[in-house]
Amino acid sequence: MSDIKRILIANRGEIALRIHRAAHEMGIETVAVHSTADADAMHVRLADHAICIGPPSATDSYLNIANIISAAEIAEADAIHPGYGFLSENAKFAEIVEAHDIKWIGPKPEHIRTMGDKVAAKKSAGDLGLPLVPGSAGAVSDVDEAREIAEEIGYPVIIKAASGGGGRGMKVCESEDQLETLMQQAGSEAKAAFGDATVYIEKYLGNPRHIEFQVFGDGEGNAIHLGERDCSLQRRHQKVLEEAPSPVITHEERMRMGEVCSKAMRDMGYRGAGTIEFLWENGEFYFIEMNTRLQVEHPVTEAITGVDLVREQIRIAAGKSLSVTQDEIEFKGHAIECRINAEDPFTFAPSPGKVTHYHPAGGMHVRVDSGLYAGYSIPPYYDSMIAKLIVYGRDRDRCMMRLKRALEEMVVEGVKTNIPLHQELLLQEDVRTGDYTIKWLENWLKERED
Ligand code: ADP
Repeated sequence: MSDIKRILIANRGEIALRIHRAAHEMGIETVAVHSTADADAMHVRLADHAICIGPPSATDSYLNIANIISAAEIAEADAIHPGYGFLSENAKFAEIVEAHDIKWIGPKPEHIRTMGDKVAAKKSAGDLGLPLVPGSAGAVSDVDEAREIAEEIGYPVIIKAASGGGGRGMKVCESEDQLETLMQQAGSEAKAAFGDATVYIEKYLGNPRHIEFQVFGDGEGNAIHLGERDCSLQRRHQKVLEEAPSPVITHEERMRMGEVCSKAMRDMGYRGAGTIEFLWENGEFYFIEMNTRLQVEHPVTEAITGVDLVREQIRIAAGKSLSVTQDEIEFKGHAIECRINAEDPFTFAPSPGKVTHYHPAGGMHVRVDSGLYAGYSIPPYYDSMIAKLIVYGRDRDRCMMRLKRALEEMVVEGVKTNIPLHQELLLQEDVRTGDYTIKWLENWLKERED
């Protein structure tokens, strides 16, 4: 076991800043890498060292493995934190990092690989005792086989790309006569998007919630869970608002399902942070995928447990144990995160450009994770999320009231943001009572348009 002294942060935006903060609180130096478009970014300003790794296009910078490894060597970083997105779930990158004798602040490469292939992930999850969505045992290439499976589980079914991600590469099939066409379409779209035409089939759940469990392993067979997050408010399969705990889960259910998840991680020998995603319908959980990285919405878990998840990630990469045991984790109060995007609140068209005024919300139990400042130019090349507003309250009602107040306070001028959308959402009775599923937001947006 050796201590980590300098972490290279292979990411940008709010998450780069988030990692920088955890590192500095542990007395660890940071190295920011950035594209030419991000030379003025806040994480670059705050890091101890900064290295430009390429032009704006992510392929040439944040996804450029050779340049990132060179930067780590030049800066003498002894660890790399990948954040989320970009190279965070690239098993090859994790292997290259480790082959260079640099600590990888993430799961073992073989686990990243297994969980990145959705067919292999589903098989592995089933073997580990996680409840699955009924469907094909593996990849399905043959239409007759698909027909048999669909017949057995019943329509509607969903055809999904084995290499899919970000909500892409899925087709819902209502009846047998559409199956052949949709299988072909899904296969060719998957090939075009992910370079892999492999698809599989599962039962399409009509109106589920998205509930995910945060897990943590030390790679030595110890693992804990930190409860669930409810991320059902989604647009185009992208999360918009997340909360913890889920309004529909009892404490007994949380501890029961959490134990199922942490046992699976113990049996796997999982290392680092992970999220096991489920769809939840009529009281039943169905595994859909596992993300082998830190999630965007991790702060809601931090708010209700008091555990700094990035700090735990760094500890584990340094060969230390988790700093908390399952028994020490207490779930207290309620937290909600709003993803603030630079986009039109009605058309959702991205709105990059110069931020003329910026005032983050503040006050008790209000957290804003963002790299914004007045005068900053939001580059057009990357994701439109510019800030996360995370609010805590002793119970859900107080959390909602505080969130309403915090949204009123938050000022981002010069670009359009979805703050008005969040404000409108909070006024909706179903959101106020927590009575929503993954379909709710899109249905509501449709009604709003009419
Ligand atoms: P991705 O990796 O692309 O995010 P997921 O498997 O996590 O794909 O699914 C993304 C979203 O698609 C889910 O949150 C849910 O909204 C929807 N979805 C996926 N599988 C099903 C299913 N079997 N039934 C209904 N909806 C589904």
